Amino acid sequence: MSLVVMGTVAFDAIETPFGKTDKIVGGAGTFAALSASFLYDQVKLVGVIGEDFGDDNLQIITSKGVDVEGIQIIEGGKSFFWAGKYHNDMNSRDTITTELNVLENFDPIIPESYQDCEFLLLGNATPQVQMTTLNRLKNKPKLVVLDTMNFWMDIAMDDLKAVLKHVDVLTINDGEARQLSGEYSLVKAAAVILEMGPKYLIIKKGEHGALLFGEGQIFSAPALPLAEVFDPTGAGDAFAGGFIGYLAKVKTINFTNMKNAVVYGSALASFCVEKFGTERLQTLTHEEIEARLKAFVSLAKFDI
Ligand code: AMP
Repeated sequence: MSLVVMGTVAFDAIETPFGKTDKIVGGAGTFAALSASFLYDQVKLVGVIGEDFGDDNLQIITSKGVDVEGIQIIEGGKSFFWAGKYHNDMNSRDTITTELNVLENFDPIIPESYQDCEFLLLGNATPQVQMTTLNRLKNKPKLVVLDTMNFWMDIAMDDLKAVLKHVDVLTINDGEARQLSGEYSLVKAAAVILEMGPKYLIIKKGEHGALLFGEGQIFSAPALPLAEVFDPTGAGDAFAGGFIGYLAKVKTINFTNMKNAVVYGSALASFCVEKFGTERLQTLTHEEIEARLKAFVSLAKFDI
């Protein structure tokens, strides 16, 4: 049984108040798969790259045991490229460039060895590609989680609403929840979005944590107050990877496990932001994750 992640595998150029990078490895699929690999050992990635990506960059992903048979390499093609600049508060950013390149004609291939997929993360990518990925799995996975962003709401809202009908969990940030629902109150937004298809909704609020809605309940998880947030890129994807990685590990889907999954996702995201790009996830250890989970528990625990 496996956890399949589909999402962009990309080059990113990032500018934060702490510095600037040239093209480094990024992509929603990359961050999510790396993050999930800490919790589950059968992580399989679906994506597309150009010839420019190179074996050493791909090795950043394979070194964590992620299966990359589902990554197509387009001869002569250029990898998806995204450039972003963060504001001083690090909670908001401007997208400087989105070059779809090989993503423009991406037709996902699901290798036969991926057909044992029980947990599917449809990471940030074209809603149409998310739908195709789901359709190409012969058996419906036990759990389908979808992550998306405002970019796709701006240019492909109808496709996004179509795929939402088939997912169990949607993860988006607060601004996106407002855009998708047309409601300012996040509680009202959640009610509207849960009518669109997903059984559960997670609203990520950056340094203010995350809200989980479903089964008529709400759970609020904190974000760990960090003295230094170096680069928030990929935090949302690392969150989604940690979230579904935990559920793949425990296998049972219920609100209690979902709550724990949100905390695991938050813990993985909190590491991701400590260095540029995937750097921190490359050196992360299981001991560090355990210690951080304890910090999360003590941060939010109180008796009345
Ligand atoms: P996050 O910070 O979690 O929103 O994710 C940032 C990552 O998403 C970067 O590594 C980008 O390569 C990737 N990304 C940026 N824009 C898009 C997009 N429109 N579709 C898919 N992936 C994207």
